[in-house]
Amino acid sequence: LVAFRGVQKTYDGETLVVRSLDLDIRRGEFLSLLGPSGSGKTTCLMMLAGFESPTGGEITLDGVPITRTPPHKRNFGMVFQNYALFPHMTVADNVAYPLTVRKVPKAEIASRVTKALAMVQLGGRDRAYPSQLSGGQQQRVALARALVFEPQLVLMDEPLGALDKQLREHMQIELKELHRQLGVTFVYVTHDQHEALTMSDRVAVFNDGEIQQIDAVERLYETPSNRFVAGFVGDST
Ligand code: ATP
Repeated sequence: LVAFRGVQKTYDGETLVVRSLDLDIRRGEFLSLLGPSGSGKTTCLMMLAGFESPTGGEITLDGVPITRTPPHKRNFGMVFQNYALFPHMTVADNVAYPLTVRKVPKAEIASRVTKALAMVQLGGRDRAYPSQLSGGQQQRVALARALVFEPQLVLMDEPLGALDKQLREHMQIELKELHRQLGVTFVYVTHDQHEALTMSDRVAVFNDGEIQQIDAVERLYETPSNRFVAGFVGDST
């Protein structure tokens, strides 16, 4: 679905925060980008989303270069920890927003919003305002907003980071289930080994701007490619 080829990024013209990265994202998979803080995961996601441009290499979507395509034309769903809801809009209007800007007819918006809210188990809360909801509910509204226009790719950056442990574990299960039901491709950035390993089909382990290993979860445990991966993945148990 997506290919990174020799992608590089520097913010100051000197230090490469992403070094010559090759990455293939498969259609329908749940892929986590896992690594310590500062290892370049968010930068990769931002380049995929279109908020940052690579300083070298190319990113393609179905074989077509997207490096010059602005974010809103990439049609990806996005859920970020700080990608806040609009506080002055109801839950329904927040979720409807991506459809409103795409000029989808009103009747269709209503039915799709209802469906998206049911999907995240928030049917009936459509008239509430974000401030009336818990953190987990707000994050589910953000998820409904990211899914409502049926994107082929959903990008998430530490979406559960602000939630307490219990709620986070609950949402991890829900996210995984939602992924299974929808068959959409999820790319999920996290520094939490446990989270990445329990939710994903494959994990790309980042360190120092490079992917150390990208593999199915079992293979990371069984055959880590180097000490860093063995240590980092091993830490989750
Ligand atoms: P974290 O989980 O802490 O976000 P990360 O693995 O996602 O870490 P990045 O956010 O991609 O890592 O950051 C990689 C490096 O790039 C860091 O050293 C960071 O300071 C630097 N960096 C990130 N964004 C910018 C920016 N907008 N301007 C300058 N430097 C940046």
